[in-house]
Amino acid sequence: MSSIDQVTQKFRSLRMSAIAEHLEPLLSQAEANESSYLQFAQSLVEYEENQRNSKRIEQNRRRSGFPLHKSLEEFDYRFQTTISKREMNSLCDFNFIDNRDNVVFIGPPGVGKTHLAIGLGLKAIDAGYKVSFNTALALMEILELAELKGELKKKINQLLKFDVLIIDELGYLPMNKQGMHNLFQLINALYEYRSIILTTNKEFTNWGEFFFDNNVAVPIVDRLIHHSHIFMLGGESYRLKSKLNK
Ligand code: ADP
Ligand code: MG
Repeated sequence: MSSIDQVTQKFRSLRMSAIAEHLEPLLSQAEANESSYLQFAQSLVEYEENQRNSKRIEQNRRRSGFPLHKSLEEFDYRFQTTISKREMNSLCDFNFIDNRDNVVFIGPPGVGKTHLAIGLGLKAIDAGYKVSFNTALALMEILELAELKGELKKKINQLLKFDVLIIDELGYLPMNKQGMHNLFQLINALYEYRSIILTTNKEFTNWGEFFFDNNVAVPIVDRLIHHSHIFMLGGESYRLKSKLNK
């Protein structure tokens, strides 16, 4: 006859640490519910599975690099009427991630592009996906540094481990030739393999001037908008609204 401590130890050494830490309450619960043996066995595996999932989600949240917490629940669709709650909700079935589609929010400053990108990203994490948030500027710096060290491929491969890459504020600052080249390498690697959530203040027709070079702009834009859900946001800046209301 084994003691509960011995059984706990066995679970631990088999790396089922959630069951190991929770064996007593799981046993008492089974006794109280007069569970069948099968029900008890099921309650053990489910407990382990649920704990592992929530740990993984917690870890993905830490690795995502969101600068702020913005939830879709906080978003006011009465103020921002150029996108509907229904449209955002339908993105939250995450078919776009499974299909490796992109989501693009285009619009002037302050209309909620970054808020929606973060809110959607957080929901994707809750659904079990891995998401990485980067401003376009930070991403360019990361790629540039990797390129200088001869590790561009390695860095891109690291980024490909995420299901979704959020690129915030593409187009705010002009890019040099090497930057464009690096970005192209990344977008090309992601194309039809991973999803991008992109926010930008530039309409695609103006991307030539931002990239200085249509020869690079065209293939990049082509890959970004092929299989993509594009939302053109308009209206007033929410920042301005909060200022005026004060
Ligand atoms: P953008 O990225 O388009 O420049 P942001 O998403 O950064 O704009 O929005 C600016 C600020 O206003 C943020 O604090 C954001 O949370 C808030 N905001 C913007 N639109 C809305 C909205 N419709 N409802 C609630 N908050 C909003
Ligand atoms: Mg923004």
